[in-house]
Amino acid sequence: MTAFDDELAVEAWEARLAPLLDAHGAAVIAALRGGGPRPPWPAALRAPALARLAAPHDPRWAARARTLARWALAARLDAEPAMFAAHAAPATAAGLAARHRALREVAARLGYADAAALARALYGAAPGAAGAAPTEDDRDAPPTPTAPLPGWPAVRAALAAHAGVEPAAVAAFDDGRHAATVLTTAGVACVFPPVVDLASLTVAAHELGHGVYAAAMRGLPLGLAAAPSRTVDEAVAAWAVRALEGLLPAGWAAVARWRRRRGERARAALAALEHRALVAGAVDDAWAATVGAWRPALAAAVLAEPGVAAAYAEADRLALAPGPGQIAAWGRAGAALDAAGLA
Ligand SMILES: [Zn+2]
Repeated sequence: MTAFDDELAVEAWEARLAPLLDAHGAAVIAALRGGGPRPPWPAALRAPALARLAAPHDPRWAARARTLARWALAARLDAEPAMFAAHAAPATAAGLAARHRALREVAARLGYADAAALARALYGAAPGAAGAAPTEDDRDAPPTPTAPLPGWPAVRAALAAHAGVEPAAVAAFDDGRHAATVLTTAGVACVFPPVVDLASLTVAAHELGHGVYAAAMRGLPLGLAAAPSRTVDEAVAAWAVRALEGLLPAGWAAVARWRRRRGERARAALAALEHRALVAGAVDDAWAATVGAWRPALAAAVLAEPGVAAAYAEADRLALAPGPGQIAAWGRAGAALDAAGLA
């Protein structure tokens, strides 16, 4: 294969996948709003040839190939019978252990040395050793202020202005049962539950952070119109949640900061949990040993995507502080963005 052959293969796959992923994205949005199950990846993504795509002669072509290969990996992982069965396990510590066991088993079948290598390939961060123990108490919440909170449109406007994109480029649906952001060739859509309090406003800000970043990538070729990794994408969303604190009245900003720090400690605990389960191999007692009592709400993220916790913890650790217009500039590089330059 010549470099030209590599480029042709990437372009052919992008042309084939774009309509399939657009249809998938529309189905995801409908599922998020309607509460139905998330649709499976298009079957075409599981083609072995897609997973092997590479174009090492040029950084932008390499990034396009890498994105497509990563999507192929995600689709193949979801379709693995052991993973499929583990996802049907209950939302309990035992069910989570079943998912972690399946991930360890499937890693070798997919050609990875271990579950940590698979998680890094999927999400851009591998389970690492636990960080420093939390020092701040979870229980002493600041008093709840009486001042009104801003609505999500004001938050979207402020985030978009700072990012350097048009607010109207980020469609928002505030009737979601679940929250997620979807980028298709038709545009960017953030879905989140109705905003009724600071917790739901924080969820909206997180998705709108994904949204302004995705809007900055819109119009790029399919494989380039994606963050270089889930870690970087979540780091931009985490920036948006920190930026929200600057948009709130002082009393609310204090509450938001307390909530955010509690969230950061929770994500560090989840990363320690996954390190124990996936790297140290102590699957069965991982939750009890690292987190304590079972907390279903805290477990939600790792139940749906076992192995993802390191990406969220690393996103917090990066603590991105983009200047005005910088997210638009990152977006223009798309998947070719050198994440090493962000820290
Ligand atoms: Zn996110």
